[in-house]
Formats: sequence, C-alpha cells, structure tokens
Amino acid sequence: MKIHEFQAKEILRQAGVAVPRSIVAKTPEEASAAYTELGGSIAVVKAQIHAGGRGKGTVKDNADQRGVQLVKSAEEAAAVAKGLLGKELVTIQTGPEGKVVNQVLVEEGCDIKRELYLGIVLDRAAKLPVLMMSSEGGTEIEEVAAHTPEKIFKEHFNPALGPQSFQIRKLCKKLDISGPAARSAEKFIKGLCKVYVETDCALAEINPLVITGDGGMIALDCKMTFDENAMFRHKDIAELRDLSEEEPAEVRAGNTGLSYVKLDGNIGCLVNGAGLAMSTMDIIKLHGGEPANFLDVGGGANVDQVTEAFSILLDDKNVKAVLVNIFGGIMRCTTIANALLEAYKKLDFNVPLVVRLEGTEVEQGRQLLADSGIDIIIADGLTDAAKKVVATVA
Ligand code: ADP
Ligand code: MG
Repeated sequence: MKIHEFQAKEILRQAGVAVPRSIVAKTPEEASAAYTELGGSIAVVKAQIHAGGRGKGTVKDNADQRGVQLVKSAEEAAAVAKGLLGKELVTIQTGPEGKVVNQVLVEEGCDIKRELYLGIVLDRAAKLPVLMMSSEGGTEIEEVAAHTPEKIFKEHFNPALGPQSFQIRKLCKKLDISGPAARSAEKFIKGLCKVYVETDCALAEINPLVITGDGGMIALDCKMTFDENAMFRHKDIAELRDLSEEEPAEVRAGNTGLSYVKLDGNIGCLVNGAGLAMSTMDIIKLHGGEPANFLDVGGGANVDQVTEAFSILLDDKNVKAVLVNIFGGIMRCTTIANALLEAYKKLDFNVPLVVRLEGTEVEQGRQLLADSGIDIIIADGLTDAAKKVVATVA
C-alpha cells in the first residue's frame, strides 16, 4: 500500500526523523497562506501523487509547469498551486496518462549542500532488511543500479536491533560524510530504520536525502509503501490509503476478495490460485500471447466472485479473449462450471472463452459446459488451453 509524500513525512516527523516544515494545500489560496505561515523567503510547491519523478515531470497541456517548483512569494505559491491542482501530472513513473493532482505540499526551502540517496527494502534472499545509500541522490536509483552499481552501498540489519553504529560509520566513510553530518547521519538512519520496522514498511526511500549547510541530515522527499498483510495492526496507516490513486478495477476486485493486477495484453485470465495464475500468464506468453491481467479468484470462489471477475475482465476494452484455468482442488469442477454458466448468462460475453478444467469432478464439470450449448472452447491441459486462446486473438 502506497501513501503520499506528506503522509510519509508526517510519520517521520512523529518518530523524530528530520523533515522540512510543510503544509498541505488543496486550493491556491491555501497554498498562498501556507507560504506566509512558513515565513521563509523560499518555499517549494510539490504535487502530491503516488508517483516519483515529479521534479522533472510536467503537467499535460502545460510543459512549463513542473511537479516540484521553487517559489519566492505567496503569489507565486498560489500560481504554481493553480497550475498543478486538478491537472494531470505526467512523470516517468505515471505513464503517459498521468495522475490528477488533488493536493500540493508547500514546504520550506532547504539549504542543500549535498543530495544523497537512501533506501530500505526487504532483501528476501538475505531474509533481512537492507539499507542502501548512494552519493547519487536526486537521480533515479534504477539508473545508478544499471550503470554504476558500485556507487550503491548496502548494509543489512537485524530488524530487532536496527543498524549498528559501526555500520553507519562504514556507510559514512564510503559516502565521505564526516564531522557534524556523520553525527546527524547516525540519528537520522537509526530513527528511519526503526520506523521502517515498526510500521511494517515494504519500502522506505529518501531521495534526495540532504546534508544541509550546517551539517544536518534531512529527508527532502519520502516514499513509503507498506505490507498490506500487516495493515490490520496499523489502523492509522491503513486509513491513509488513497483509493483515487489506485487502478479502479483493482480496487473493485479487492472489494470482492479477488487478487487482480491489470496488465497491457489482450488475453484476460481467470484462474484459481496465485501460482496457477502465474503459470497461466507464463504459458500464454510462451505461445506468443500477452496476458491482459493477473487474476486469482482464490480457492473457494463462489458465483458472485466469478461473475464479478468476468465483469472486470470484460470491462477492459483491451480484452479480446478470456482463458479460464481452474484446478479443482478444494473446489469442485462442477461448482466452478455452474458458476461459469451463471456468470455467462448474466454478462454480455462478446469475446471467445476458452476453459480448462482439471481436478475433482472434472468429467461432470466438462459435461455441464458441453451440455449448456454455450459457445465455449474446451481445452485439455495447459498447453492446449494456451494455444487455443492465443489462436483466437491471432
Ligand atoms: P521527485 O522525486 O518526485 O522528483 P522530490 O521531492 O525528490 O520529487 O523533488 C525533486 C527535487 O526538488 C529534489 O531533488 C530537490 O532538489 C528539490 N526539492 C524538493 N524539495 C525541496 C525543498 N524543500 N527545498 C529545496 N529543494 C527541494
Ligand atoms: Mg525524489
């Protein structure tokens, strides 16, 4: 689950991790008042969307309006806010359609001496969180990782203990951080790692992490994503979820207990079990097709869920065929066949439907489909299913 920069910074602020003073604004008037309230001469107006690259991103229809802009007066703050609010901001991470800006963050200008990168993620191979730092702050870390990976320094840490002082000293040495900045680094990094662990973060990224003129360390940007499976114990964080930032079909699927991820292809997939869903996508690609989605209806899908799943697939204009791949393990094939027929009756099915059933009561299930008189292409096995569905869109 993602949250906005201003929300992440509030979490850091409460945990005693240094962030600049800032105020959220939803109108140009609020932005102007926020500038005055901050009381400095320089402020920065920042679009709040669930995507990075805002500094280089521009608003649709107005290439002069960037997603992060320096302002030197209340009037300017209002003008920039006006240029952003309600507009679609396109960045390297939003895709060409962009994201609508519903609020901006007006933040005090920071005396930047150095811009660093800091990220914390879970390293599944090491079974530990890993702290990554680089002197290449501000730039896309993917670029650094691709071209100059030697500039990224890593330290794994025990979640119960946090990073040890010697590890932070090691990082500081590699990044050429010394004096007061090294003391600030110790406090900042330990505090941030503590927040990461305590809030069940999946990713915490501070880019840029700034060293100020007086040797302070402060988070100028902050991206945090959380482990959704842990949100039951962080009700306050769960409330920060902004559904307007999420893919509507994914929200809809989530409400029905389906796991759905939209993709770019044209073959809709309806599968039970995440592993089988992954294999289904793989085998479609192996036979030259492109899946339009990942969709796991779960082990005990009922008629309502199957109907909603079909409805989501058919609402996607890119979908030119649907492949149903069900293994009846816990669920019986007859149950799913009946659910399929019910859903088929309710919805306006205008694309070819290929069905592969296997498992408990498979013969009876297939018979039900065959007897229904509905135009369903029955497949025998995964490969046959993939070949048949790819052929329908070829
Ligand atoms: P994004 O990563 O989405 O482009 P950032 O928050 O990292 O957005 O801002 C982009 C750049 O704007 C930063 O690299 C930094 O140079 C500058 N910037 C951001 N906030 C401030 C601030 N409060 N004071 C001064 N410069 C800032
Ligand atoms: Mg950034």
